[in-house]
Amino acid sequence: MSGDHLSGPAFRGQRRGLMLVLSSPSGAGKTTLSQRLIAQNPDLVLSVSATTRTPRPGEQDGRDYFFTQEERFLEQAFDGQFYEWAKVFDHYYGTPKGPVEEALDEGRDVVFDIDWQGARKLTEQAPDDVVRVFILPPSLKLLRDRLKKRAQDTDEIINGRMERAKSEIAHWGEYDYVVVNDDFALALEKLNQILHAERLRRTRHPWLDGFVDALMEE
Ligand code: 5GP
Repeated sequence: MSGDHLSGPAFRGQRRGLMLVLSSPSGAGKTTLSQRLIAQNPDLVLSVSATTRTPRPGEQDGRDYFFTQEERFLEQAFDGQFYEWAKVFDHYYGTPKGPVEEALDEGRDVVFDIDWQGARKLTEQAPDDVVRVFILPPSLKLLRDRLKKRAQDTDEIINGRMERAKSEIAHWGEYDYVVVNDDFALALEKLNQILHAERLRRTRHPWLDGFVDALMEE
């Protein structure tokens, strides 16, 4: 093994797949960023969560979320079918275990669009594999404008969303990287840089032990 293309796609046994966790308050552009990141890196897999909330216009079951009833969700949760699950404000959200384990076993990298509770739980379970990125809006005023544009909600609902945004932002210090999304292209570039640098991390390359042993015996 030459170690070429180390920051590229991983192959079975060559590199451990990493878990790229993206969190942000809603309206900071995380969904678009993660979609573009995946479009640019076809070897990345998005973890599709299960949720008990109802689909928004344009959302597709199985693509954006697995939309499910509360009873079924809790059944699956207590049956251990989720890598992590949490109640985020009014609804349950969970990361199905199967597809994530399959992807990681194949050495593929998985992107998670989950909140700070999910980030914490994944870190507890797989501290060596998790890379956490928090995406911040450049200002709360901009966030408010984006939320207003997105849906014709009353001021009261928008204010509620802003409070939720602040409570999510309060956890920014638990993340490995913070990207301010003031310029979309630049933020995307930063996410790519994080991904590529993290793929090179020594601990993700178990083959190095044998490689260095052989090197020393030359
Ligand atoms: P939304 O309902 O706007 O799609 O998502 C609300 C929040 O739930 C977002 O912060 C999103 O990242 C988070 N979320 C989505 N899926 C999961 C999940 O599987 N686990 C956790 N812990 N949070 C999730």
